[in-house]
Amino acid sequence: MKTEDVSLSSGITKTENLPFVWMSQGHCPRGSKPRNTHYKMEKGIDKEYMADNLKENDIKLLIEKLAATHSLSLEEYRRLIEGPGKVQDREKFSVPEDNKTKNHPLSRPDDEAPRTIKTGKDRELSPVLAEKAVAVRKEIYGDTVFTRGLIEISNICKNDCYYCGIRKSNRNCDRYRLTEEQIISCADEGYELGFRTFVLQGGEDPYYTDEVLIRIIKSIKDHHPDCAVTLSMGERSYESYKALHEAGADRYLLRHETADKEHYQTLHPAEMSFDNRMRCLKELREIGYQVGCGFMVGSPGQTAEHLAKDLKFIEEFKPDMCGIGPFIPHKDTPFRDKPAGTLELTCYLLSIIRLIHPPVLLPATTALGTIHPLGREMGIQAGANVVMPNLSPVTVRNKYMLYDNKICTGEESAQCRGCLDSRMRSIGYRLVTDRGDVKNIGGKE
Ligand code: SF4
Repeated sequence: MKTEDVSLSSGITKTENLPFVWMSQGHCPRGSKPRNTHYKMEKGIDKEYMADNLKENDIKLLIEKLAATHSLSLEEYRRLIEGPGKVQDREKFSVPEDNKTKNHPLSRPDDEAPRTIKTGKDRELSPVLAEKAVAVRKEIYGDTVFTRGLIEISNICKNDCYYCGIRKSNRNCDRYRLTEEQIISCADEGYELGFRTFVLQGGEDPYYTDEVLIRIIKSIKDHHPDCAVTLSMGERSYESYKALHEAGADRYLLRHETADKEHYQTLHPAEMSFDNRMRCLKELREIGYQVGCGFMVGSPGQTAEHLAKDLKFIEEFKPDMCGIGPFIPHKDTPFRDKPAGTLELTCYLLSIIRLIHPPVLLPATTALGTIHPLGREMGIQAGANVVMPNLSPVTVRNKYMLYDNKICTGEESAQCRGCLDSRMRSIGYRLVTDRGDVKNIGGKE
């Protein structure tokens, strides 16, 4: 039988180079039994199994390096994301009708299509990563979990993102827009419940001009000067961002969605641009907001290379907040048939992001709670430190459906807060009444 090379990212390619202890004693870091029955034996050596062990060792070293330096190369991030197990087969994509061009990356023949990433079932090093992430977070934020009162002010949007349930082309969406009085009364109720941050989130609804938003921000800040106001209202001009900041808005959330330009264009129609998204994030930072970026885990067409770019972007941009959650398809979108992202990979990435940028405010998102009943608890146990209960009026909650089966659409605000409070206590954490600003350790570059 011919000896097969064991090709590894560490550069070790021959069985002779395998650590002596594994060859001579059959030492097995994972236990005494091989994981699968397809291994090949030669001279008593399970080469595939040893290759797995070497990969696992490589990943452990990368985790150590990340925890110590908060930085990896793109290639190292890719290896960390792929983990020690095998990469899945290529996924077949259908391209949204309005985004078909012959050069479109999702239009390529299958053999040229980008590789997709593992589902995470085989992610054995997640606990190692999570343990380090939790230790780092505890050092900075202790056992506290910050809450943000989420007010979904409008589900009207001029954009048509392929993944979004409230995109303008969705004729089945029952549209609503909250009045200024309704928004302010949600904040008043939230204040009584102990919230000290209000997140005003909505589609890109032209009704919310600077004038309207400035009135709302000022009113909330007048009533509750000890509170922070976060906006999540999409792409706007520099002048608009500046005016809203001067009116009192403290933070701005704008997910970058993907740090790969080509991938960005596969998730959005042609009139939306990656460059403009990046322009917005840079300007928000320049103006003085605490800025949040973020992305969906498992979005259609996403590869380990794309995720590596996301992590490198986070490493360089050092956002104050970072919202990541699994992609969940919505039945009335072009991505209705795409598979959802996984809980495992989302938690794995939460841990990595905590190690990249230790002070980052990292929510355990509602999407995480939607794909698993204990998803938010698991997110916190992976390194997250923020939850965002809903303060929107119950009458509109089930209309803000960015994806299918979203949870927490029926409860009153007090119930939402109480539910999350007991969920956090059940895992040894506590919700706090605090603005929950990012801790500036070491200052920004
Ligand atoms: S993701 Fe945001 S910008 Fe895109 S359609 Fe949905 S609400 Fe509008």
